Amino acid sequence: MSTDTLQKYVQKMKRLRVDRAHGVAPHKPLLLLAVIELIERGQIRENKIPLSPDLAETFMRYWSKVTNRKPNIALPFFHLKSDGFWYFHPNAGYEKVLDVTDRITKISRLREVIAYASLDDDLFVLLTNAGKREIIRQTLIYVYLLEFKGGIESLITERQQITEYEQSLSSEVEQPFSPQKLTALIPVESPIRSAGFRQVIMGLYDYTCAVCELRIVTMDGESVTDAAHIIPYRISKNDDIRNGISLCKLHHWSFDKGLISLSKTYQVLVSSLMSDRRPTEWRLTELQDKSILLPERNQLYPAQDALAWHREEVLRR
Ligand SMILES: [Zn+2]
Repeated sequence: MSTDTLQKYVQKMKRLRVDRAHGVAPHKPLLLLAVIELIERGQIRENKIPLSPDLAETFMRYWSKVTNRKPNIALPFFHLKSDGFWYFHPNAGYEKVLDVTDRITKISRLREVIAYASLDDDLFVLLTNAGKREIIRQTLIYVYLLEFKGGIESLITERQQITEYEQSLSSEVEQPFSPQKLTALIPVESPIRSAGFRQVIMGLYDYTCAVCELRIVTMDGESVTDAAHIIPYRISKNDDIRNGISLCKLHHWSFDKGLISLSKTYQVLVSSLMSDRRPTEWRLTELQDKSILLPERNQLYPAQDALAWHREEVLRR
């Protein structure tokens, strides 16, 4: 790719049509920073950018560094189309709506009408290159967000550390599983560690509870599921992916309290303390022997050693 292409987009970024009225946060640059982060994290791998909870949550993190006001991601997501490098791809049956609509400001409506947005192909390719991506990012920060530079850059660094930790966890599965981690993989502060662990487990199970398959993700990126440790972190110090599982709040609690566990063949075991004769406990007892949801690659399944430990030490009999 030529330097000309980079220059062309640096110029385009400098000339975004933004509302510079007093007190209005620059929506478009913040949305573009969020898109850039998702490309960097490998969450966006092809030139298709849906208005996803991931994107909304990322946008809101940047937004919170700039203002306390309530954001509406629908505004920049929609209006970026006027800047000449952002295109809409409608859901089937909505082609006409998009032709005649001049303004959509509701997230739910945008998600109904638009399957995803895309960038100019050469801009997308440019953003997959770390060095060029950084130039575009710095342009956006310097032109529109200079007074918030410190906060935004520390957010970017923190995210990069989380992604790095996540990648180190992913490469760890090449090694045999060991229940106890004696030395930390890399010295990391705990918020980064737990965010990296969560990110990798949620990526694997797509925010779905392995036990009941409940999946709820709100548009601000909250989900009903937790990244649970099979052998608790305080005991194992082990963020190995195979010591993790995605569980909804109820099943995370039940698992930690020993009311449920998992068999060698990845089926639910319910504690004998639970009885389906009690009025509401059937919600757990009915899960007995249910096969759980597992990641695609069996290399990433919960480790047998970890499950055996949980049955032995936690499951109440
Ligand atoms: Zn559940």
